[in-house]
Amino acid sequence: QSQEVSQARIDYHVALQALQEHGTRMVCTGKMHTDRICRFDYLCYCSEAEEFVFFHSNSSVMLPNLGSRRFQPALLDLSSVEDHNTQYFNFVELPAAALKFMPKPVFVPDITLILNRFNPDNLMHVFHDDLLPAYYTMKQYSDLDDEARLVFMEGWGEGPHFDLYRLLSSKQPLLKEQLKNFGKLMCFTKSYVGLSKMTTWYQYGFVQPQGPKANILVSGNEIRQFARALMDKMNITRVKETEKEGGSAEDEKEKEKKDDYIVVFSRSTTRLILNEAELIMALAQEFQMRVVTVSLEEQSFPSIVQVISGASMLVSMHGAQLITSLFLPRGAAVVELFPFAVNPEQYTPYKTLASLPGMDLHYISWRNTKEENTVTHPDRSWEQGGIAHLDKEEQDRIQASKEVPRHLCCRNPEWLFRIYQDTLVDIPSFLEVLKEGMKTKPSLKKAKVASMVHPGRVREPKCQTSVQTSNEAKLTVSWQIPWNLKFLKVREVKYEVWIQEQGENTYMPYILPQQNYTFSENIKPFTTYLVWVRCIFNKNLLGPFADVLTCRT
Ligand code: UDP
Repeated sequence: QSQEVSQARIDYHVALQALQEHGTRMVCTGKMHTDRICRFDYLCYCSEAEEFVFFHSNSSVMLPNLGSRRFQPALLDLSSVEDHNTQYFNFVELPAAALKFMPKPVFVPDITLILNRFNPDNLMHVFHDDLLPAYYTMKQYSDLDDEARLVFMEGWGEGPHFDLYRLLSSKQPLLKEQLKNFGKLMCFTKSYVGLSKMTTWYQYGFVQPQGPKANILVSGNEIRQFARALMDKMNITRVKETEKEGGSAEDEKEKEKKDDYIVVFSRSTTRLILNEAELIMALAQEFQMRVVTVSLEEQSFPSIVQVISGASMLVSMHGAQLITSLFLPRGAAVVELFPFAVNPEQYTPYKTLASLPGMDLHYISWRNTKEENTVTHPDRSWEQGGIAHLDKEEQDRIQASKEVPRHLCCRNPEWLFRIYQDTLVDIPSFLEVLKEGMKTKPSLKKAKVASMVHPGRVREPKCQTSVQTSNEAKLTVSWQIPWNLKFLKVREVKYEVWIQEQGENTYMPYILPQQNYTFSENIKPFTTYLVWVRCIFNKNLLGPFADVLTCRT
């Protein structure tokens, strides 16, 4: 149907002439293939060759012009997973004159975002690797709006969560397989290729054991805005949170408390909680709350989100379904259960998410430490943790091991064996961990009042010096408040002063409540000091240092 649309909406001959005359134009951001996104005019795709094609003409543009470095290892990552060698993007070059000998191109008029989904079968990967990055890539380039066309080039079928991808734009996303239907040569009038990695917080262990990314750039604010946008698209209203924000009267709080509930997210095929009913009873009794269960096998995704968005606590086995904690209201608790011999500290995608600044979720993990409470599945397929294919010796070693050692992704049989165990949750130890964990639950009020605003630079920093005796001197440093402070209500404003004797490599730090101070201890006559001053709001919001002062006594 799109072919008809395209022919109706753009003048075919004008487009063809533009391609023939101007060729392809590419302008990219990013110094490295790992942080690059490229914008193209007239990027083409040859479905027979399964190659993107760049047509050179006198007015084509290729920036960066990397020459053959374009293949070392690639122009860019097509998925949000960093430098994965199955996710590289490149194109083949041809002179525009070659078009004469090629099938007639079909033009795609939509502004297109071309990307690879990393693992569309797994809900965690769907959100972390695809939906969040695509959502914010589209925010980065304003012409990637609700009318944008998404093209998924990883080559998989729709997968079980395709409806979620449909929420990103009003147009049906295209799969690689479907590009054939558009003819042998299709040309995207305007397209972007690649995904922003700005929102990802986890690395899956391809080069070092899995863990939080080294430099996380996303905060709870962006995750929550994305979550709200998705909920709007799913027509879900988060009743609970708006009430919470509005009401403050005691009786309202009481009423609200009656509505509080716990969600147990259950898995029905693998990594089971064997005594789920008992666990639910224990939770209900302990917290005097309703407990509801959800599972991907039994509810639609929107109805699950609806339930989770009003919950006070989400309890689940480690697994992809826990990504739905991004829909929890602020102040809720995430309780993640781990099977025997799996160390929670080493598998932290959900802990990292819950702990992002501004996510305001309370994370608690529990692990099964009783081997008699685990049910292993050595005879299953290797993907589901079976170990029957291994040497007897290796099988015995794995069976005897009490903790999975650190390992790389993704086919470590000991890891798979342990993570696919079913667990009989020991209720007393579970409640103990939960009660202990809830003691340190940060009050939401505190988190809310704590502002996100950082101080500006202190202004007009000055120093004055005087020499008292041959071995005593004074150094007075003064400054004005940061410009933004006069517009803010800040609970605590302090200043930090660093004093360094020129040529030394250590410095003395001071925290001061006022805007000037005279230092006399450790200040020597006829010496040059370097002095830095910055402002600090509420103990941990650091401002920038003002320009360094050079002060000679
Ligand atoms: N899944 C599920 N119920 C199950 C087992 C898996 O809904 O009993 C879902 C799970 O949420 C994920 C996908 O199936 O989206 C793949 O699960 P897998 O165990 O392979 O991955 P993990 O949950 O460990 O990331």
